[in-house]
Amino acid sequence: MGRVDGKVVLISGGARGMGAEEVGLFGREGANVVFGDILDDLGRQVEEEQRAAGHDCTYTHLDVTSESDWQAIVALAEARYGRLDALVNNAGISISVVGDTSEADWDRVMDVNSKGVFLGTKTAIPAMRRAGGGSIVNISSIAGMTGAWSRSHPYNASKGAVRLFTKATAIQYAAEGIRANSVHPGPIITPMSSATYDDPEVAAQRLALIPLGRRAHPIEVAYGVLYLASDEASFVTGAELVIDGGCIAQ
Ligand code: NAD
Repeated sequence: MGRVDGKVVLISGGARGMGAEEVGLFGREGANVVFGDILDDLGRQVEEEQRAAGHDCTYTHLDVTSESDWQAIVALAEARYGRLDALVNNAGISISVVGDTSEADWDRVMDVNSKGVFLGTKTAIPAMRRAGGGSIVNISSIAGMTGAWSRSHPYNASKGAVRLFTKATAIQYAAEGIRANSVHPGPIITPMSSATYDDPEVAAQRLALIPLGRRAHPIEVAYGVLYLASDEASFVTGAELVIDGGCIAQ
């Protein structure tokens, strides 16, 4: 028996990186997954691979900054699989600039990382009500808890916003059986972090700061997301799950 058997789960940014890993894990654990991204070719490739592995999942285009895209993907989940039980707000971007962050950079990072989580939550809540409850898992970062671990100020700010937006969501919807929690990954091996770690000098400096001495594989975060989305976490809401090899414990 799977850990999320029969659940319908919506994942944003599922075409690659941690999102794609979560699409696979939730499928193996018995969920029907609907996932979206702006990278349609990659997303369809993931969908094909998962279907070949026997998981009935559905990919569709989703720009998380578009409310109408969110409405369409939530409607698709309900039409195809009958309900929506969980939402993983995973899509995110980082623009690695500090002093020379332009206003456009700031707006783009806040739009994708923060507004995207708001729009996804707003659109999923009515569907979760219809399902009798639900679980929202928002992917923040350790950069949403401290001023370090990112070379991008808007990234820290946008992930900090996700952290508190999650708690406000948890409190507001607890009475309706809708839980909301945030996940705070440290350095994970995905296309997003490769820009930083491809530079051997920067990589050596960063690795020296990680108590476990390495970056994590996406599956090591996906298991935490699975737990929070599942009924195993039925009394967990408004919490922060740090998966960072000890980075912020120091
Ligand atoms: P990634 O770049 O590999 O994947 C992010 C995905 O989000 C991509 O498929 C991308 O196309 C998608 N995306 C970007 N903008 C979008 C939009 N407007 N609409 C829909 N999809 C969009 O990165 P990742 O490392 O897998 O990141 C996943 C999440 O984890 C992000 O929220 C990221 O901020 C967070 N995170 C990553 C790390 C890390 O070290 N990699 C650490 C902490 C937190």
